Amino acid sequence: MSDCAFDLVHYRELLDAARDGAYAFVFFDHDPRPGDLFLRHDVDLSIEAAVTLAELEAGEDVRSTYFLMTQSVFYNLASPQGEAAIERLRALGHAVGLHAVWPRAELDERFDPVVAWHNPDPQYMSDPVDGADNVMASRFFSLDHYRSDSNQQWRSGCPHESLARGEFEWLQLLTHPEIWVYEGATMRESMESMLAAERELRWRQLDEDRIDLS
Ligand SMILES: [Zn+2]
Ligand SMILES: [Zn+2]
Repeated sequence: MSDCAFDLVHYRELLDAARDGAYAFVFFDHDPRPGDLFLRHDVDLSIEAAVTLAELEAGEDVRSTYFLMTQSVFYNLASPQGEAAIERLRALGHAVGLHAVWPRAELDERFDPVVAWHNPDPQYMSDPVDGADNVMASRFFSLDHYRSDSNQQWRSGCPHESLARGEFEWLQLLTHPEIWVYEGATMRESMESMLAAERELRWRQLDEDRIDLS
């Protein structure tokens, strides 16, 4: 596990490490307790990757919170595929929050009352949100209790060893499903993998939409 690749093999090892460290996988519905692991996924690019990761987690008896966008340029949550994805995430036992684009945080029945801003500016990142918990509010967030895989860069290194040793009192761990599901040594390569998969998907969708592909 030394190379800490951004792939599903190492993702599973991360989950195993958390289990070795005796962490509990919890939702954003209470103040952090010692041993809590708030596993969070911001779904920026690919709803298919989110479902793939959700299936893997459920197979490991792990629960996490998926933050989905209603204003994404990459996927449509209101499409049949989007609706099926939410249904699947729920059926697997995960929580679903809103990955909101500031300043709009319009929660509806699809979401638990919890919000994570997409690419937030520091000015409003931790501010209270009406009618919902903000995952970056001070009670859920401090630098000692937070790790993120943004752009395939762990700022303080991959957390698997610290998790296995139980070094975090509690942790909010943010991962982006597309980084792990679509493989590549760099973010650029992972995006190449994702776009190759989506090209196949688009051909299928065109066919299903009765487009003449003869
Ligand atoms: Zn690692
Ligand atoms: Zn985001």
